[in-house]
Amino acid sequence: MNSTGEVCLPGGGSHQSEGAGAESECPICRGAQIVHPRLEGGRPDYSRVVPCVCIRAKLEAVKKKRLLSMCELPKKALKWTFETFEILPGLEEAYEAALELAEERADSNWLTLMGGTDRGKTHLLTAICHRWLDKGKPARYAYVPVLFDELRRGFRGEGDLSYDARWDFFLSVPLLALDDLGTENKTNWVQERLDTLVDYRLTRGLALVVTTNLPMEDLPFRIRSRLSREGRVVYIAAPEYHTRPDRRAS
Ligand SMILES: [Zn+2]
Repeated sequence: MNSTGEVCLPGGGSHQSEGAGAESECPICRGAQIVHPRLEGGRPDYSRVVPCVCIRAKLEAVKKKRLLSMCELPKKALKWTFETFEILPGLEEAYEAALELAEERADSNWLTLMGGTDRGKTHLLTAICHRWLDKGKPARYAYVPVLFDELRRGFRGEGDLSYDARWDFFLSVPLLALDDLGTENKTNWVQERLDTLVDYRLTRGLALVVTTNLPMEDLPFRIRSRLSREGRVVYIAAPEYHTRPDRRAS
């Protein structure tokens, strides 16, 4: 990670490392867990401290765990990455489009995956989330039919977050993954919230990935016009995933 190397804190050897025995003490920071970085010329920069290499992996793991929990992926999707995706005939374009967006080399950072149920859309959607989380960037998965129930729970003060905090997160998280758009309640409140969400993210250039089982013309007008005008839409015509013998058990 840091190729410049670090130098031990002055007097670092006298630090008491809580709970760690002398034999497990880090030889670089001697238990202080912070070190001075080196300047260009190799001299220690005593004006700054950075986490020692011995704690950095732990901090990374904590950050990764936190990002994963904030993303709220469904349990079944924890292993749905690009590496575990089987590119069946008919899925090549969707796979490529998802990968391009995940690696931030697509022309647009909006992608809609359309097609019948069980075509691997949700797998690709969550694979994009996993790739972002791996880069240390926040992402949020939301199953659209329950997204608005979750927001309403914030109104009633249930859970850790208020409605405003939940809503702000959906608006501004760098990547929002909306699974199964079109199956939400068609109340005015829900449709107005969805419009706001999509418009807000559009004006700020924030990434949005959507899956839907519906044909484009069955989605609400404002949303479908934005999805098709501002982003890429890929229609998946592959056979159902579960009809394959090796998929039946999963
Ligand atoms: Zn150390």
